[in-house]
Amino acid sequence: MSIGYTLLDAKYEGDKVTLFYLSDDGEIEQWLDNEDYYPYFYTLDEGSLEGARAQGCKIVSESKRELFSDLKKEFYKISAKEETLSKVKMMFTHVWEDEVQTVEKYAFDKGMRFGMGCQRLGERTRLEDVNTEVFDKTFDELLETDPVKYNFIKRFFEVIEQPLPEISENTASRYGYDMERMLEALYLSRITNSPITFRNAPPSYFIKALYYLNLKSEGYVIPTPEEFSRSESPRGVYGKAALVLKPEKGIFLNTYVLDYESLYPSCIDVYNLSHETVNCGHEQCLDNKVPEEEHHICTIRRGKYSTIIGALKDLRIKYYKKKARNNGRTSKVVSDVLKMILVICYGVTIRIRGLSNPALAESITAYSRHALKTAWKYATEIGLKPLYGDTDSLFLVNPQSKQLQTLIERVKKELKLDLAVDKKYKVCVFSSAKKAYLGIFENGKVDPKGLTAFKSNTPNFVKKVLEETAVELSKINALEDIPIVRRRILQLLKSRERLLLERRFEVEDMAFNVILHKKPSEIIESNVYAQPYQCAIQLIDEGIRLRRKQILTFAKVKAFNYKGKRFSVKPIDRVNKDEINVPDYISNMYSMMNQVLEPLGIGKGAAKNEYDTLTRWFKESDTQS
Ligand SMILES: [Zn+2]
Repeated sequence: MSIGYTLLDAKYEGDKVTLFYLSDDGEIEQWLDNEDYYPYFYTLDEGSLEGARAQGCKIVSESKRELFSDLKKEFYKISAKEETLSKVKMMFTHVWEDEVQTVEKYAFDKGMRFGMGCQRLGERTRLEDVNTEVFDKTFDELLETDPVKYNFIKRFFEVIEQPLPEISENTASRYGYDMERMLEALYLSRITNSPITFRNAPPSYFIKALYYLNLKSEGYVIPTPEEFSRSESPRGVYGKAALVLKPEKGIFLNTYVLDYESLYPSCIDVYNLSHETVNCGHEQCLDNKVPEEEHHICTIRRGKYSTIIGALKDLRIKYYKKKARNNGRTSKVVSDVLKMILVICYGVTIRIRGLSNPALAESITAYSRHALKTAWKYATEIGLKPLYGDTDSLFLVNPQSKQLQTLIERVKKELKLDLAVDKKYKVCVFSSAKKAYLGIFENGKVDPKGLTAFKSNTPNFVKKVLEETAVELSKINALEDIPIVRRRILQLLKSRERLLLERRFEVEDMAFNVILHKKPSEIIESNVYAQPYQCAIQLIDEGIRLRRKQILTFAKVKAFNYKGKRFSVKPIDRVNKDEINVPDYISNMYSMMNQVLEPLGIGKGAAKNEYDTLTRWFKESDTQS
């Protein structure tokens, strides 16, 4: 079937719009709209209309709805050449939609949609009928329970399901993509109605494009950034954003990890969280309090942000993710694109101008924390043993499947959220640090989370010992096995210590890999050298040119004098085996593995301050990058 022309991109120059299409036979075709097109803004301010007219602006009146009051008002739409419009804008105290890109306004006004097809160049987008059999089965019940969201889902579905144009390697590379990325870009373009070349735009741009398009389609004037934020500046919500319930230290068998799928988008959807529904003006909504916050949520209007995000989330989880599992390649791409949008739907409400709203951001995290706490509470009430909770996941020790069922059902009923078993560890080692544990699956595979020793900068020697330790841990089948395995691990550590003392190792396995975060010139100027910089200085002195972000590979050696300073590392290929600082590596081995050994009661006090310094350095560098 002929798709015709797929609109990919647009350019605005000299009052004219040029459109770029992908034709049926894979060619890029340009089309210039001969008619002049002028950008515009909306205003309610009558006082300056005469002045604008005198400048040559075209003024028409248009009936638009305000998002926050939901009232229809007569707005003045003022359009003119770009330069004129930006001058005229100053005469008005309050303008709307001034920040929307001209090509987007053009596409909207002309009924065109990026990433979509039309029969002739310059025509409106034409939607083909799509197969809705599975869609209907999946979403029909929403028609009754949430018709507003149903309509959004259906609209997105029809857009996504339109036939795809033929994409050649050639076309993709013209836009700087490979085939896979081109397909992603095309779907992102479709869903958010934005030109395909906007790939360098920040992710928040796509949420804005998506949100604004849908508000405009429903006859709303897009609120200004100040209205969106209710004139509140961003607040530091990070501190209590996500809830982490402290783990119990130790080794646990048969641990289930339960996850809330898409927790933030789900809370946005289920609890009706949107810019206009948080702290709405209705008297009767005051009682619908956000847990542990002063905010309340509207019980009368269905929030726009809430429904748009909810619709995309439902489409991903209930439709495309499932289809992707059955080897649907394009479904996988759609699912990934939707995920990209969903992942940032909370973050943008914190501090992205034009989307941010502190009360909304706080409400999203408040409901998320509430979800985790409540699941923990319910679990305890039915006799389960919750071990650890982090943001959207809950760890339960040795649950009965019937108990799990009860928990999941109760959460669904009371919180309207989907909790599901994500994974199951045969053995799970918890250190006392939050966000750091070692999970070992039934098949012996290791799942290290937040453990320093598994980072890429750890020397191979230590990594190997850690892997061997994990193999021992995976042999624990019952609590009685723990002392035996503990003894075996102790023996293992002692034997590796001996290898070090007898210098039976490869120098390469002693290497630390660290990214250089400073410019070489800054290093030369400084006077105190952290170990990675000691390595850098030696390389620079040898005439080697270093770049920022380059990886430095060095080993710890016995202290030596270097240009009047005490140095303790050398670039790896300058290191002689005899120079290796063995006592350091021994204490490193214990301290880097401490998060695993501590719960076993091994190696307490083995950590040396020197290693901590390096750890801190890694952390500081991480935050700089
Ligand atoms: Zn209300």
